[in-house]
Amino acid sequence: MNNLRTVADVLEKSSRPLLCGHIMPDGDSLGSVLALGMGLQSVGKEVTIVSSDPLPDLYRFLPGIDEIVVGSVPDRKYDLLVVVDCSVPERLGSTITPTVDSGLPVVVIDHHVNDQPFGHHNYVRSSAAATGEIIMELLELLGVSINLDIAINLYTAIVTDTGSFRFENTTPETHSKAAELVKFGVPVSRLSNLIFGEQPLKSIRLLEAALNSLEVSDCGRIAWISIDRDKIDALGAEDQHIEGLISYPRKIKGVELAISFRELDKQKVKVSFRSKYTVDVNFLAKKFGGGGHVRASGCTIQGTLQEVKEVVLKEAQEIFRGC
Ligand code: 5GP
Ligand code: MN
Ligand code: MN
Repeated sequence: MNNLRTVADVLEKSSRPLLCGHIMPDGDSLGSVLALGMGLQSVGKEVTIVSSDPLPDLYRFLPGIDEIVVGSVPDRKYDLLVVVDCSVPERLGSTITPTVDSGLPVVVIDHHVNDQPFGHHNYVRSSAAATGEIIMELLELLGVSINLDIAINLYTAIVTDTGSFRFENTTPETHSKAAELVKFGVPVSRLSNLIFGEQPLKSIRLLEAALNSLEVSDCGRIAWISIDRDKIDALGAEDQHIEGLISYPRKIKGVELAISFRELDKQKVKVSFRSKYTVDVNFLAKKFGGGGHVRASGCTIQGTLQEVKEVVLKEAQEIFRGC
């Protein structure tokens, strides 16, 4: 792994970088890629940002979001691929993953737990609460002056990945970086409302369905919800409306491990894990080919909803010695 100065040097030498984050983009992925894109543009780079997946409506307020190209990588000349907030090439999405092996030099800037990061150059710091924290340091190394637009993007990256500074990943460093960003005029209360305070009706309807599916293990340490495809389709809901539902089983007093099962199709289920104090859910997700962080992770498993629930719950119950 490189140090951040090396990554800054590689970026300085590039003139036409292609930037991207991960599939099902979240606040950290989008805020980081936009802040870095704006910063690089301000020092004269010709920047292109691409997302394989559509952008959630929730993040429409992010400055510069309309500049992101959704879908295929535009047919332009690039001299560098810069990947942020993504630990494995597969999570770049079908339109971008092939670019990793296209001969273009690749730089990865990330904070997921990962002992084998990809890319010709990479900087991974799993102690950073958000990739946005690392991007903020990188911009300083690049001599970029932070403005309000960049500050809003970085603040959003940090506030979303820390669940508004409530998760265990929040450090003194996270707070001091956020405080520095607020000095640029970030409208904290307005952002808080946009991100956490309001949701479209279909999200609430989906929550209703999710809570109806809620189950808790006999010992009370594991709680899970299941959302089937038919329900998602009937409500016209998308990924963006499902994100966040897992916080409900996690909220239950005594629950250490929360799981959400989301049917992607009849043979594929997306599983999300969250823990509170002790369970290493990155380790758990890795058993099923996924990953993430110690307290938040995920994976996609082949099988019907029922089959996937059985295999995952068996593994989860082992952690609590058959609970
Ligand atoms: P979520 O459950 O919200 O989709 O993801 C929680 C965390 O786990 C995020 O940091 C995300 O990047 C990571 N994650 C989710 N699904 C996967 C996966 O299939 N593979 C890997 N490597 N990480 C994942
Ligand atoms: Mn992310
Ligand atoms: Mn992140």
